[in-house]
This record gives sequence, structure tokens and C-alpha cells, in this order.
Amino acid sequence: MHFKKNKQKDEEQKKLQKEKNNQYRAERRSLLNRKSKEYYIKNRDKCLEKVKKYREKNKINISVKEAKKRILDTERFDKNNLKFYLWSLKNREKLNEYQRNWYKKNKEKRRAHVILNRAVNSGKIVRPNFCCECLQKCKPDGHHIDYNLPLEVVWICRKCHSRKSTRTIKI
Ligand SMILES: [Zn+2]
Repeated sequence: MHFKKNKQKDEEQKKLQKEKNNQYRAERRSLLNRKSKEYYIKNRDKCLEKVKKYREKNKINISVKEAKKRILDTERFDKNNLKFYLWSLKNREKLNEYQRNWYKKNKEKRRAHVILNRAVNSGKIVRPNFCCECLQKCKPDGHHIDYNLPLEVVWICRKCHSRKSTRTIKI
């Protein structure tokens, strides 16, 4: 009986210690986060240089990792595009060249996309979580009506977007 009581006590103490440790770690983590943030603000260029070098060195690993993430994101990833997607992974250079040419030919569109992306990332514009045309829940694209108004967009899904684009080309 006495022994049993002791055992119970031990376990309670262990539990308490564990909780304490967790709390200590959480506090430490937030302190470290704050410190690294402060460090980043003071040494922004140095940090960015470091990240750039790291990305350059681990280019292939990073692109594969990001590709996997994208495939797992079913809301974003359309299975019909899988064939093209796998092709693009193997022909990265070709695709990059195509993209560069597209940017050169479509400077206006590119500019609008960059401005819109920045506004979304900074929280100035909120992307809805559904398509405004078919009302399906998804991560919609911003469809520009006028590229001179980069922040004026209709939020529609990939399917509705491609339908819209082909319609515009036909006109
Ligand atoms: Zn849609």
C-alpha cells in the first residue's frame, strides 16, 4: 500500500516536471523567435544574402519539396494538369525561357500580377476562399478585367479562369 502511494506520487511529480519543461520550452521559443526577429531587422541584408546562398545551393531539393507541397494541396492542384506538371519538372529550363519570353511580351500583364500579389501578401487585399463564378470553395485566381487597374480583379477558380481566357481569345 505504502509502495503504491509512492509510485503515484512519483508519477504526479513526473507529470508536473513535464509540464514545467514544456512551459520553459514555449517561453524559450518565443524569446528565441523575438531575438531572431530583432536580429533579422538589424541584419536584413546579411540574412537575405544567407537565404539566397542557401537557396542557390539547395535549388533542386527546394524545388522538389515545393512541388510535393503543391501536389498535396488539392484545392490548388488540378489533376488534369499533372501531365504538364511532370513535364515541367523535367524541363525547367525550357519553361523558364518560355516564361521569360512571356514576361517580355506581356509586360503590362506581368506588372498587374506583381502588384496584385504584393497587395494580397501584405493583406491589403483579401482573397476569398471560393470562386465568384461557380461559387465552389477553392483558392481562386485574380482575373484582371483591365490591366491598367491591377487591383480590380474578379476572383475565379482555375477552371472558370481558363474558360474566360479562351473566350477572350476567341473574341
Ligand atoms: Zn469557378
